[in-house]
Amino acid sequence: MSQVKVIPLGGAGEIGKNCTVVEQDGDLVVIDVGLAFPHEEHYGVDIVVPDFTYLLENKHRLKGIFLTHAHEDHVGALSFLLPQLEAPVFCTPFTAAMVRMKLEERAHLQGSTIEVVEPGATVDRGALKVEFVRVTHSIPETCALAVHTVHGIVLFTADFKFDFTPVDGKLTNVGRLTELGQEGVVLLVSDSTNVDRPGWGPSERRVTEGLRKVVQNAQGRVLVTMFASNIHRMQQAIDVAAENGRRVAVTGRRMEQTIDIARRLGYLRIPEGTYVRLDDVGKFAANELLILTTGSQGEPMAALSQMSRAEYGRLKIVEGDTIVYSARPIPGNEGAIWRTVNRLVKMGAEVVYDSDSPIHVSGHAYQEELKMMINLVQPFYLAPVHGEPRHQFLYNRIASAMGWPDHRLFTLSNGTVLHMDDEQAWIGESVTAGEVLIDQHGNVAVNETVLAERTSLGADGVVVVSMALDTELGDIVSRPEAQIRGFSGPVSAVEDAIDSANDVLSRLTSTNLKDLDKVRAAVSEAVRKTINRRCQQRPVVVVSILESD
Ligand SMILES: [Zn+2]
Ligand SMILES: [Zn+2]
Repeated sequence: MSQVKVIPLGGAGEIGKNCTVVEQDGDLVVIDVGLAFPHEEHYGVDIVVPDFTYLLENKHRLKGIFLTHAHEDHVGALSFLLPQLEAPVFCTPFTAAMVRMKLEERAHLQGSTIEVVEPGATVDRGALKVEFVRVTHSIPETCALAVHTVHGIVLFTADFKFDFTPVDGKLTNVGRLTELGQEGVVLLVSDSTNVDRPGWGPSERRVTEGLRKVVQNAQGRVLVTMFASNIHRMQQAIDVAAENGRRVAVTGRRMEQTIDIARRLGYLRIPEGTYVRLDDVGKFAANELLILTTGSQGEPMAALSQMSRAEYGRLKIVEGDTIVYSARPIPGNEGAIWRTVNRLVKMGAEVVYDSDSPIHVSGHAYQEELKMMINLVQPFYLAPVHGEPRHQFLYNRIASAMGWPDHRLFTLSNGTVLHMDDEQAWIGESVTAGEVLIDQHGNVAVNETVLAERTSLGADGVVVVSMALDTELGDIVSRPEAQIRGFSGPVSAVEDAIDSANDVLSRLTSTNLKDLDKVRAAVSEAVRKTINRRCQQRPVVVVSILESD
């Protein structure tokens, strides 16, 4: 009997770089190819993508890549994967337009194609069928993906919420989810990001009230910052601007591009005469303007961050401006966001980041919504993803309270293989999985050794030891000397380290002194150990040997 395998390569036990493989009868499909943002300890790392070794080793069996929606944590690593293999990519029209825009920037499609699939449609790929089921989320045309396997349906919820008054009027297809439950969902792979929020999340539409209050009270210009892909939020800001006689301008390249696409494809409606070019804002009074801007996460190069440093040539913050943060900080970005907010406040702007009427709501299901999904689709097995271990733990505890026995609840991590046959499911062997760190130029330049060195450099600086040897005779020509940069320990520790380097050298025979690698290793070790013993610091030690004869 065929086995079905579900293998997360990213997104299990973390929030970010979602990517999961489903396999049956030698055929393989991938759900999402996302990126993650670096943590504080990732010095010089711009983005993090999944380790694709397993996919690359099995690329001849890959039948297709399926995308749930166009957020970076679900599509952002395509430009790193697609140049390495050939596969059709299936997604909804809006996702396709966003992905095409992003791919044109970074990589070519090579032999891969982007196939547009309407919500509700099913794609047949070898042994597996994948059905797109519409759900509500903070970006248009998000779809849960139902993978029809020989043992039942493996249902990926995607990022979702149950919003009964969505801004675009397009509801989660509750009817189809219920039917899938009746047909037999063997495994529910669920979003769990907001499992620690009790109750039911507010509808996206509630943001209209919050924005309206701010706009009506503002004497001057209103700037609203949000994720560049949040079309529904933009729609509300534009509508509130229009009803209050304000024109809308846009700053930030990514936001301009997204608005352009969304407008062209009919996902964003801008009332006649409302949109003005940024260069024309000077023609209007301050209280006739609302400006949409990137930079809600404190990204250093985003328009709002540049404005906060008075470095943005096209728009200056002035006293009387009101700036609305309509986005939740991605964990890790808080410091950068507060620094930006503080600079804006010092410039005389009023900054609104919290309010009694919401100016931001989450796109992810709260506890009761997660339970509703479980109730609708009645899965046999459950596996929360899109959450850290604490979210997965809490999700499974809730499912357990709903009557699911422990052996039907799984906590997946990246690389674990969940096997299913017609009798049971179990976690078997693991495949290669992990993180690949990409620098700002798009190169896979940063490995763990480099990262460890950067951490040491950042914390304790560098000690460069230089000396000269005659490698023909095996003689010391000039004794070790040290230079330090960014090292804050006592000078005497460095002097002791040089003494210990001299001790080591005096114990080496002339034959040993002809072997540069050996000398370098011995001196480096002596210096590192002495400094660490003297002042508990671990600077990077570089030994530079000049050969002379
Ligand atoms: Zn996500
Ligand atoms: Zn999302």
